[in-house]
Amino acid sequence: MNLADDVRSYDLDALRERVLPETSGSVTESIPQLAEADPDLCGIALVALDGEVRTSRQGEAAFSIQSAVKPFVFALALQDTGRAALERVGIEPTGEAFDAVKLESGTGRPPNPMVNAGALLTSSIVDGRDAGARSERIAAGLSAFAGRPLQVDEEVAAAEQRLGDRNLALAHLMRSEGTLRVEAEDAIGVYGRACATLVDASALAVMGATLASGGVNPCTGERVVSPEVARDVISVMATCGVYDGSGRWMREVGVPAKSSVSGAIVLASPGFLGAAIFSPPLDDQGTSVRGHRASALLSADLGLHAFRVP
Ligand code: GLN
Repeated sequence: MNLADDVRSYDLDALRERVLPETSGSVTESIPQLAEADPDLCGIALVALDGEVRTSRQGEAAFSIQSAVKPFVFALALQDTGRAALERVGIEPTGEAFDAVKLESGTGRPPNPMVNAGALLTSSIVDGRDAGARSERIAAGLSAFAGRPLQVDEEVAAAEQRLGDRNLALAHLMRSEGTLRVEAEDAIGVYGRACATLVDASALAVMGATLASGGVNPCTGERVVSPEVARDVISVMATCGVYDGSGRWMREVGVPAKSSVSGAIVLASPGFLGAAIFSPPLDDQGTSVRGHRASALLSADLGLHAFRVP
């Protein structure tokens, strides 16, 4: 049996049952809409690179993508700037929380595109001459990654803007360094709308699979980004995608991924598959507890660890 067959026959409901008894972690209180999430929700989706989409029970539950959007915004920034984005944002892990108010020493750049400072920057350099046009570019790009039109949750977007003081502080700090070149309010508006994009586990898994396939959406056949961009993004997911939990993640799961405060995790296993898990309770690093556990089991069951040895 090859991996595509393994993915086709993999029992996602059984995986879900294995992680459901895990009840540790807590749901974020960052904005009211996220604080209301049901802690018992758990949905999983897998997308093989032949375009086959598989989902578990509750795989259709909708959630705002939050920080799981960051790899895709980075991808669009690389694509739109001819990869000049690599000069505007660092690619080193920080060992710090996602919203740490800290920039790269010496350059004043955001440390990497997977933390808030980095995503504020990357969402400011995608194509579009003003904030509205950049938001439209991001919405169209994310929809191409997902293979279906994605909507923004306007209440979540408004709350991100209203309660985004820390992100605003980061934007002002980058402006004072000369590294962010749009208005701070515009930067948090565009980034906040990107975070408020509504997906479900299957849409997010297709997005991961599009990176894993080298930039072509395996369901629609559309090329969304170049193979070089996909490789760059997956590399940075591997080193920085789970913030200050990236080292533990790489040892235990071994698959490039991005976590988010809504409890979503997107995985991109290059050449193999995309996957997504949504379960709101988070650990101290802001990673879904059941999502981490399910990812580790999935990786072990399908032999996905990047550094597996004979
Ligand atoms: N919108 C959230 C924020 O900027 C996203 C954070 C996250 O998912 N870790 O604070």
